[in-house]
Amino acid sequence: MELREETRDKAILLIDKLYNENDLRDEDLLWLLDNMNKKEKEYMFSLSKKTRDKYYGKNVYLRSLIEFTNYCKRECIYCGINAYNKKANRYRLTKEEIVEACKNGKSLGYNTFVLQGGEDPYFTDEKMCEIIKEIKRIDPNCAITLSMGERSYESYKALKDSGADRYLLRHETSNPDYYKWLHPKSVLDTRVECIKNLKKLGFQTGTGIMVGLPGYTNKDYVRDLRFIKTISPEMVGLGPFITHKDTEMREYKSGDIDTTLTILSMVRLLLPKVLLPATTALASIAENGRKAGLDVGSNVIMPNLTPVEYRGDYMLYNSKKSSGSESAQALNMIKNELDSFGYICNMSRGDSKMCVE
Ligand code: SF4
Repeated sequence: MELREETRDKAILLIDKLYNENDLRDEDLLWLLDNMNKKEKEYMFSLSKKTRDKYYGKNVYLRSLIEFTNYCKRECIYCGINAYNKKANRYRLTKEEIVEACKNGKSLGYNTFVLQGGEDPYFTDEKMCEIIKEIKRIDPNCAITLSMGERSYESYKALKDSGADRYLLRHETSNPDYYKWLHPKSVLDTRVECIKNLKKLGFQTGTGIMVGLPGYTNKDYVRDLRFIKTISPEMVGLGPFITHKDTEMREYKSGDIDTTLTILSMVRLLLPKVLLPATTALASIAENGRKAGLDVGSNVIMPNLTPVEYRGDYMLYNSKKSSGSESAQALNMIKNELDSFGYICNMSRGDSKMCVE
């Protein structure tokens, strides 16, 4: 009995230390992951929410997501649009369609456009730079986020020089052996180098992981948390692993919401000013997934403004949540929903407080 009380005291002590110092020794993070009970997790969630409120208030930043190509040369074994999935219905948006989607987003009030795609060699630097410049012509003050995988330093530089502001490149796992299994023909070191190059070039950089990968251990999560803390990205995209029926990981179990919320909460506490989306994957595994993410400290959502005719083909995993967010009516629904949760829909550029202060 006494020992149990000591354990409970230790949990609260460590959670408070994480909240106050925004860091913990690796062994303490591991101890928390191994030992926290439901009540203690709820306590940690309340502190990560409080941390988000301290820097961002109740603001939830809306980004318009445009999935512009589902061609991909890579073979990530968990992904529904990897190169070897012959069943995927491939599409590419034209430059005009991408720009039109951004114009539509701008008319709805969006000020950040996230261009996300597979690693598609069709989109050369020349084509991408043209697209970026064209979007900036709609509004020079808007923010452009790119998420299109690994490229050379020179390529990232060209994209930056053309006006791209942010780049998302999740590392997915910082366990090198696990990374190799998930990404045949790729190595973690290359990924990390790309992330460092993006930082060096002045991109607001995002990285992140999948939570609930088969056989993943709490030690792996601690390694990921330490990696994220050390890299200190402006954004962290973090969602549950969800299986896709046409991949070799189809038989595995998907990640669960509880573990995802726990890791989200710890990221917020380790990096208090980070921009932390409540991801579509999170919304896809549980009815209340998005709200639950916001309630542990997330502060970004990315409504999908990809033209409707392509949207069903960007299937990285099964049961991906989708809605007709391209209309003013749908946007009002999002605003009303956020309002009912007690949050404020913020459609400004929403730069990370890590770079504006
Ligand atoms: S996860 Fe990204 S890089 Fe990997 S196959 Fe899917 S789209 Fe391509």
